[in-house]
Amino acid sequence: ELARIGVTGLAVMGRNLARNLARHGHPVAVHNRSYSRTKELVEEFGHEGTFFPAETAEQFVASLERPRRLVIMVKAGGPTDAVIDEFAPLLEPGDMIVDGGNAHFADTRRREAALRERGIHFVGAGISGGEEGALHGPSIMPGGSPESYEALGPLLEDISAKVDGVPCCTHVGPDGAGHFVKMVHNGIEYADMQLIAEAYDLLRRGAGMEPGEIAEVFRGWNEGRLGSYLIEITAEVLAHTDAATGKPFVDVVTDQAEQKGTGRWTVQIALDLGVPVSGIAEAVFARSLSGDAGLRTAARELPGPSGALAEPAYSLVADVEQALYASKIVAYAQGFNQIQAGSAEYGWSIDPGAMSTIWRGGCIIRAKFLDRIKQAYDAAPNLPSLLVDEYFLDAVRGAQDAWRRVVVTATQLGIPAPGFSSALAYYDGLRAERLPAALVQGQRDFFGAHTYRRVDREGAFHVLWGGDRSEVAS
Ligand code: NDP
Repeated sequence: ELARIGVTGLAVMGRNLARNLARHGHPVAVHNRSYSRTKELVEEFGHEGTFFPAETAEQFVASLERPRRLVIMVKAGGPTDAVIDEFAPLLEPGDMIVDGGNAHFADTRRREAALRERGIHFVGAGISGGEEGALHGPSIMPGGSPESYEALGPLLEDISAKVDGVPCCTHVGPDGAGHFVKMVHNGIEYADMQLIAEAYDLLRRGAGMEPGEIAEVFRGWNEGRLGSYLIEITAEVLAHTDAATGKPFVDVVTDQAEQKGTGRWTVQIALDLGVPVSGIAEAVFARSLSGDAGLRTAARELPGPSGALAEPAYSLVADVEQALYASKIVAYAQGFNQIQAGSAEYGWSIDPGAMSTIWRGGCIIRAKFLDRIKQAYDAAPNLPSLLVDEYFLDAVRGAQDAWRRVVVTATQLGIPAPGFSSALAYYDGLRAERLPAALVQGQRDFFGAHTYRRVDREGAFHVLWGGDRSEVAS
């Protein structure tokens, strides 16, 4: 008997993915650079299904049925290349290598092209949901060739999360499309987390509420349109008490957010594509600001608003819910625009509605409102922005007064709300009839003769700023 699929790299993610496969009745070959992890897995969880432990790469490959399906779950970057270099010579045309790590999509494109020349299908698959997701059903975003999806899709869909019986896994598009979408997923995750953190900060410092009370507010919100995994775990974290001190857990954690880099990638690529993902960028920068302890210490004496916090004349809690929902719509609208831009740039033909479908379960940003996003793209696959979809337009129309009050309150109280305020600025920028970009064009023409276009005539023009200031056609 041979294994249907193999997993190499048996740290938390690979181990749980292998167990998930075995639990679904798929005989799975397991391999790790250091054999101890392989042994441990089989000793501890061997009863869960059929495992083929392999000590060497050759044994591992020999235990796979053909065409071979081999999943790599190692540290992204150099280690992934090292593992590919080790296994590729042992494979034959038609075999498939799946990289389930958090690879940069450009690396995936490079690897896919190189392996395609040797007849090997390389599938960059974004996997979200952390170690729990890997074990109980992640959201899976596989790229690569359609042929490889025919052979891999049923297995991956089988172990993915399901919502209403629909698997949270679909073929995203060729080569790096899967890892690109996973990257944007993580960028949206950064934005969502930042917005939730700002909501907490406003309720804590603006409304003077205690973490336990705020946890209850989040539990309530989780029952409504904001219902999502991130809101749910926020309530859990806020309700948690530190055992050592008896204080709220949030008060004993150092307030410096760390990052592994996928949010930064999202913003870097958005800059290259010219897509304004300001919500994601603000979230990445907010983490950087929080982490710069030296700068923050040096700036501690900067003056802020004086006097006690004014009692807001309205319900800050209700307003913050509105601001959070509206800002979240903006963050997702921006992320989906980045997916559309990447898809156009690389010729991936990604279906945005399908992406919202596979994010409904398993992944970190799973949320009720992804159903709404699916409906929006099903109704109009080329929707220029989620914000102009009828449902979201209505939601923002209903939220905007509260959203503006929240941004004003945050500003007056000196509570930073870069996510809320940049989302609002983006919204107002989109809907503006005239933007001051006209002035920027004038400045560019003045100092660099960069020319400008006119509202009333075709062509490019330049003013002789250093001369008689007459206009010339360029
Ligand atoms: P790690 O990223 O911590 O990587 C550890 C694994 O990589 C071990 O199996 C290790 O082998 C192997 N490895 C490292 N260097 C090499 C090398 N040069 N050659 C061969 N093997 C090597 O493991 P995780 O399980 O946390 O993550 C795996 C992948 O999944 C990563 O790309 C990660 O970004 C991604 N991911 C992680 C998530 C998470 O929640 N942790 C969520 C989604 C994706 P050894 O035991 O011999 O050291």
